[in-house]
Amino acid sequence: MTDIDRYFDEHPDAVGELRKLHRFVDANDAAVRLFEADSKEHFMAKASDMLPANRNSNSAVYRAMFKRGTACQGERTLVTFSGRKVPIVWRCSLPNDLEGYRRLFFYAFDVTEQKENRDRLEALRAEMARSSRVSLFGELAASILHEISQPLSGVRTSSDAALRWLERDTPEIAEAVRAIRDASRWAKDATEICRKMRGFLGKVPERPVQFDAVEAVDSALFLISPKANSEGISVETNVTPGIKVFADPLQVQQVLVNLLVNGIHAIDSVPADRRKLSISVQADGADATVFAVQDSGCGINSETLQSLFQPFFTTKADGMGMGLTIARSIVERHGGRIWAESQPGQHTCFRFALPANQPVALPSD
Ligand code: ADP
Repeated sequence: MTDIDRYFDEHPDAVGELRKLHRFVDANDAAVRLFEADSKEHFMAKASDMLPANRNSNSAVYRAMFKRGTACQGERTLVTFSGRKVPIVWRCSLPNDLEGYRRLFFYAFDVTEQKENRDRLEALRAEMARSSRVSLFGELAASILHEISQPLSGVRTSSDAALRWLERDTPEIAEAVRAIRDASRWAKDATEICRKMRGFLGKVPERPVQFDAVEAVDSALFLISPKANSEGISVETNVTPGIKVFADPLQVQQVLVNLLVNGIHAIDSVPADRRKLSISVQADGADATVFAVQDSGCGINSETLQSLFQPFFTTKADGMGMGLTIARSIVERHGGRIWAESQPGQHTCFRFALPANQPVALPSD
């Protein structure tokens, strides 16, 4: 056997079989209390049932043994005698001789409170990211609504035309059908725009997946292009074909939109022939994908550069100073990093790197 995880994948019963060779020989008072047992005897009589085989936890021990590790740990959820679920972190030190394997000590830490705090923090973070999307959207809404009015007037023109064809003395059915088809296509465009906007504003759980980076770029451009057009800013893209990223697609879109909107603000007072935004996506080795958003705006001096990612840092009269803070928290939560370079009076470039592939999973319940 050279790859223990593959072995467990190919032998799904192995963990359960190995577990049958184990016995629980002792438990301290804290373990008895953790399981809400009446007494130590009560707990010991049922210990095997209370700690059923668990692929993640058990294989973490075998994996550590296999690699001759000195310790292993993981997370799992226990169910007490009264049926309460208790999230725990467990740890086990591994001996360095065979004799030591006659008896292993497992330590369990009840992390209910930490988990509740973590869940609360998680919910708060998601809500903060969403409100920042709503405020970004507020900024873009007028130009996007203008965009929707186009397909809607297309629907109207085409259906009026269809009516006229049908109301003739000799109705022109073929022409009417063509006009109705046009109306239907316009209506589909309008629906699609609404769907994308709802996606950006909705409450959606974070769901990292591997996807084509070009999708994130396209969906961000969808939101900012109307505003960039209306402000006479040209947008260039340069995305390495087929390049992938492993992240939550909506959140990558949010980071890009944030950087692009900041770029549009920075270009505000730049003359017409130099109003340019560009987005590029390139690989950095096999495991990282780097997004770059560059603008030909006012630039950032070196002092400001230090404070960009601080909460509430803003140089705008109506700014909140949370956009870059949230962008950084999103990128870092995905295991990436974000940074900026600038040539004051010339341009600014924000880059962020994200994993290209799914990280190797940690053992957890
Ligand atoms: P806000 O846009 O509400 O100010 P952000 O966190 O998005 O909040 O940005 C913080 C500050 O960083 C901005 O007020 C601005 O001074 C600076 N900044 C961000 N992006 C750029 C850019 N592309 N060019 C120049 N300055 C920028």
